[in-house]
Amino acid sequence: QVGRVPLMAGNWKMNLDHFQATHLVQKLDWTLRDAKHDHTAVEVAVLPPFTDLRSVQTLVEGDKLELRYGAQDLSPHTSGAYTGDISGAFLAKLGCTYVVVGHSERREGHGETDEVVGAKVRAAYAHGLTPILCCGEALEVRKEGGQVEHVVAQLRAALEGVTKEQAATIVIAYEPIWAIGTGEVATPDDAQEVCAAVRSLLADLYGGDVADAVRVLYGGSVKANNVASIMAQEDVDGALVGGASIDPTEFASICRYRD
Ligand code: PEP
Repeated sequence: QVGRVPLMAGNWKMNLDHFQATHLVQKLDWTLRDAKHDHTAVEVAVLPPFTDLRSVQTLVEGDKLELRYGAQDLSPHTSGAYTGDISGAFLAKLGCTYVVVGHSERREGHGETDEVVGAKVRAAYAHGLTPILCCGEALEVRKEGGQVEHVVAQLRAALEGVTKEQAATIVIAYEPIWAIGTGEVATPDDAQEVCAAVRSLLADLYGGDVADAVRVLYGGSVKANNVASIMAQEDVDGALVGGASIDPTEFASICRYRD
C-alpha cells in the first residue's frame, strides 16, 4: 500500500431514504470527528441511492464535510430517450466523486455484460467521475480455481478504450460474489491473491507506475472485526462495504481499522 491512500467506500445499495441518509452522514461525520479521523490518511466515501445524492451534497457542501460521495451506477449515455436511467453528467453536477460500475448485483440482476460495463467506465470518465470498477467470480468459478483468470478477463474487457492517464485514477473493487452479503468473507490470502493479479494486469496494460498508483479494494462481508486482517495485505488498498456501511458506528470502526 506504499504511497496509496486507502479508501473505505460504503455501498448503501437500495437502503435509506433521503431523511435517513442525512441522519447517517451526520452520525458518521460526528463519529469520525470524535476519533480525530484524518481523511487524508484513510479516505471515506458513501455511495447512496440516486434519490439521496442531493441531500448528501447539501450536507457535505454546507457543513464542509471531508466525506466523499458517489453513485451506485450510471448510464453509458449522456442524455436522451433512456427512461429511468441516470447520466454521469447529472452525477457530476451533484458533486459526486465516484460511481460504482459493474457491481455483481447489476451484472446479475440487470444483465450487464462486460461490454456494457466498459461503456459505463468510459461514460464515467467522460463526465469527470472516478469509476469504482467491480469484478469478482461466482462460487463455481472459485471451486475450480478459476478466480484469477475470470477477474482478469472481466477487467480486460471493461478497460477497453481507457487511456493510461484515465487508468491511473481508477479504483478497482475485487468482490467475490460468494462473499457479498453472505457473511462469508474471503481469507486475507484469497483477497491478496486476486488483488495482486489485478495489479499485475494493470502493470501489463498500462505500466508499473499506473499499477502502483491504483487502489484495489476488497469487498464481501467486510465488518469491523475482519477489516484489519484484510487491510494487512500488501495489495489491498481499502474496502467496498455493503451491509456494514448502513450502520454509521460500524462503518466508522471499519474506517478506523488502524486503531
Ligand atoms: C457490496 O455490496 O459491494 C458488498 C460487498 O456487500 P457486503 O459488504 O454486504 O457483502
